[in-house]
Amino acid sequence: MIKDAKSLLEAEKSKLEEELKYYNSEDPFLVPGRDTNNFDDDITENEGHDRTEAVMRELESRLAEVGKALERVEEGAYGKCANCGKNIPEERLKIYPTASLCLDCERR
Ligand SMILES: [Zn+2]
Repeated sequence: MIKDAKSLLEAEKSKLEEELKYYNSEDPFLVPGRDTNNFDDDITENEGHDRTEAVMRELESRLAEVGKALERVEEGAYGKCANCGKNIPEERLKIYPTASLCLDCERR
């Protein structure tokens, strides 16, 4: 179970890193030689930039969670609630592999 969780988390980690790389290269503000004089284009690019930023923030926070979950695997603390120490049900970990709290504690 713990071994499964580790490979699952590592797969998730590289997937998120790939996505981040993709968004890094898709950011129009990072494309060299773009036309800065066209007003309409700038509006579109600004909107694209904001959306990209939001997605990247989301990806980064998920990546941080996966990183923390991997640390817990290393420490042997994975699958245990960080608050009450009870085992987090496997069904919950399957849906939400980075969970650090049991449902009861998270609801509180
Ligand atoms: Zn708990």
